[in-house]
Amino acid sequence: MKRAYNFNAGPSALPLAVLERAQKELLNFQQTGMSIMELSHRSKEYDAVHERAETLLRKLMNIPDTHDVLFLQGGASLQFSMVPMNLLKEGEVGNYVLTDSWSDKAMKEAKKVGATHVAASSKEEQYTYIPTNIELSERAAYLHITSNNTIAGTQWREFPNVAVDLIADMSSDILSRNIDVSRFALIYAGAQKNLGPSGVTVVIIRKDLLAKGDDHLPTMLNYRTYSESRSLYNTPPTFAIYMLSLVLEWVEEQGGVQAIEKKNAEKAAILYRCIDESEGFYKGHAKKESRSHMNVTFTLPNEELTKKFLAEAKEKGLIGLAGHRSVGGCRASIYNAVDMEACEVLVQFMETFRKNIF
Ligand SMILES: *Cc1c(COP(=O)(O)O)cnc(C)c1O
Repeated sequence: MKRAYNFNAGPSALPLAVLERAQKELLNFQQTGMSIMELSHRSKEYDAVHERAETLLRKLMNIPDTHDVLFLQGGASLQFSMVPMNLLKEGEVGNYVLTDSWSDKAMKEAKKVGATHVAASSKEEQYTYIPTNIELSERAAYLHITSNNTIAGTQWREFPNVAVDLIADMSSDILSRNIDVSRFALIYAGAQKNLGPSGVTVVIIRKDLLAKGDDHLPTMLNYRTYSESRSLYNTPPTFAIYMLSLVLEWVEEQGGVQAIEKKNAEKAAILYRCIDESEGFYKGHAKKESRSHMNVTFTLPNEELTKKFLAEAKEKGLIGLAGHRSVGGCRASIYNAVDMEACEVLVQFMETFRKNIF
């Protein structure tokens, strides 16, 4: 069996060791005679998995006791709504930094709930950089940022220092680098990029914010419901949380987030070097100081060459390299589970392709 070199933006590559373990345990999970998917979410076997996912995430991200870890459904996209529903009160303003269409969408949902303000934006320059000139509105409830911009291929290196609660959509770079969780009021991430399969969304929330959720909110849209029930108010996505626990164990085996961060920087470096040393054949979309270590976005001289590039890459087993339709060109998503070998094969291919054309 030949596995693809998977550069998909999401859902994306999972570690082979994790898939093999899940396969091995599929028919008979811990001598229950059932798969994990067939177990009650109230069983002690599932509970241990649920508990382990939370404990490992806390350990790997160094999450302080001031913050709760919640497992939700509805993807990062539901968080675009839940954040303002829970945290944006009458008379307050949700502040947003616009850095690609995900942050645009987040603000669009907040507008349905209350007042919003664009605190900074790089929209007029095709989202090619992370803006630093942040101007908060009066009565700001929070500042919302997107730590890694999956579509544009930009990433915050230093998080902004602001006097209001900082909220981050970390869907495409959670667990890829060390961050200081205590600086954030709330972090959310759909799992399908760095954490596991789609179906579970991780929310890390400072506990004092739970009181802000209005009792009139639908039960399932109130963060407090998840906090008070250990995310077991209703049936959680048990298989996705099980897979998350395996991915977290894998990260630990790799040496934790610090080791992963180093590897990710090395992977990104060889790709950006290939782009920079291509004499203008490949052009990086993001400005150098804002480049993402997760999504490497680049263009070729024209549409025809881009099509040829993608077709030949596919023949070589290099999959998922088409850019998002709003940016065009190509995008290599190199999340935690994409190893150095895959990046080296891609660099080799990019160099050979260029030399055959030039
Ligand atoms: C993928 C992605 C989303 C959307 O996630 P869903 O789980 O599909 O809702 C939101 N924000 C960012 C930064 C993403 O990369």
